[in-house]
Amino acid sequence: MKISKIILYDEPTVPEIRIDKLKKFLKDSFPISIESRGNFFELLDGKTCQNIAKTRILDLKKPFSSHSPTNNDVLIESENKDMSNLDEMVLYDGYELQKAISEKIPKNEINLDTLHIIFTNKLTCTFDDNDFRYHARALISSNPSIISTTGIIEAPAKPKKYYVDLMTNFSKDKIKEIKEKYKGEFLEYHDSRLSEIIEGYLIQAIFYYETGEAFCEHNNCRLFNSHWQKDLLFTQIENKQFCKKHKVILKELQN
Ligand SMILES: [Zn+2]
Repeated sequence: MKISKIILYDEPTVPEIRIDKLKKFLKDSFPISIESRGNFFELLDGKTCQNIAKTRILDLKKPFSSHSPTNNDVLIESENKDMSNLDEMVLYDGYELQKAISEKIPKNEINLDTLHIIFTNKLTCTFDDNDFRYHARALISSNPSIISTTGIIEAPAKPKKYYVDLMTNFSKDKIKEIKEKYKGEFLEYHDSRLSEIIEGYLIQAIFYYETGEAFCEHNNCRLFNSHWQKDLLFTQIENKQFCKKHKVILKELQN
């Protein structure tokens, strides 16, 4: 393996991450050392807060363009809020955010053999040139890699019927009822299954770093890029298997 060490940065607003469990999972899965640290976004200097605020997406249907953040946007970055819990969801360009935070990785820890993985509650998105709009993403694969817990909930789609039900029922009581009807079929905020799901995204981040490919086209493989919550729950909780090709690569990485 190229990687000999992984450093995980926790997101304390999402206790369901269970960093100690993930550390053990990685240790049991790969011959590497694992270190965990506190929140990467804590105690950031003003300039970094400004740089992060600049990565907000202002228009979902336009590729990213640089802009000056408002004082309030910068302030929010310094407050370490639960970003999944604001009145209005803030969207960040995943690659721009990755650039902004990579500047804060200590120089002596930027090595090819150390992979940094940062958890965040910020919703990361990437612009898709095919349909010319931003889409939410759970994983920004790079070094540092970003795993967005909000992205895990929001990026893979819920059942089509759920949306139809929502669209045809506007009252608050009804929405509650509909959520109850589909309970368990998709992840919700503070879902107890989150840590197990994250294991899959950790593997995808590692595979991307090692092989240049994060995803697999087979929906029976843990590296499958799940566009639906149903597939995410199947690949990472029910099935937990790799396809033939990735089983071989996994074995190679483990030796
Ligand atoms: Zn595969």
